[in-house]
Amino acid sequence: MGFQSIAIDGPAGAGKSTLARRLAGALGFLYVDTGAIYRTLGLFALRSGVDPADPAAMEALLPRISLRIDYGPDGGQHMFLGQEDVTQAIRLPEVSRASSAVSAIPAVRAYLLEMQRGLAGSRNVVMDGRDIGTVVLPQADVKVFLTASPEARAQRRYAELSARGTPQDYAAVLADMIERDRKDTTRAAAPLRQAEDAVLVDTTHLDLEESFHALLDAVKRELKA
Ligand code: C5P
Repeated sequence: MGFQSIAIDGPAGAGKSTLARRLAGALGFLYVDTGAIYRTLGLFALRSGVDPADPAAMEALLPRISLRIDYGPDGGQHMFLGQEDVTQAIRLPEVSRASSAVSAIPAVRAYLLEMQRGLAGSRNVVMDGRDIGTVVLPQADVKVFLTASPEARAQRRYAELSARGTPQDYAAVLADMIERDRKDTTRAAAPLRQAEDAVLVDTTHLDLEESFHALLDAVKRELKA
């Protein structure tokens, strides 16, 4: 029997990771956060003193990276650079910017494609990112495009950063969000867009609980269809 996969794409701050993790828990699937993989590459570039936007330098860096994903007993995803668990470190704003830059490089995307497909080939997954339904898992059983207005998404990211003890100015968070949206949607390599067969879930006016139920309902409907 094949494995089932649920692809969840959308812009930064739409609630993808929180909601996808919860969805995976409810279905008993593994949650794969592909943004964390790009973030780990971004962190590695910064630490190596390499410009994350430089395609040739990034391509030369790829063979040197020792990147590993590990899933704990509770299904939690941990990212490693060598022996170091960088799961927390990759959440810093400068790493967000670096990850957005590295993700525009075709060689980086090609390097990560098989890793992502391999994860979905060995178990049932809920995988979230920007190009999961369009490029990574075009045969996914369910595709969801999860979005919200830039202001709603910036507000959530602002609250998240504050709660984590790394507060940022709201205006700066919004500007960062808009810039990342622009880069993610206009890049040539696997730009962020809604797959034709994806269902749209807009969480602008929904709180977390309502968003989760909107997502769960949409996925159950699609799995039955
Ligand atoms: O989702 P998250 O904000 O953690 O992703 C970090 C960056 O990685 C995004 O800005 C996006 O540019 C990139 N990304 C991507 N493709 C994916 C997942 C993330 O290009 N599948």
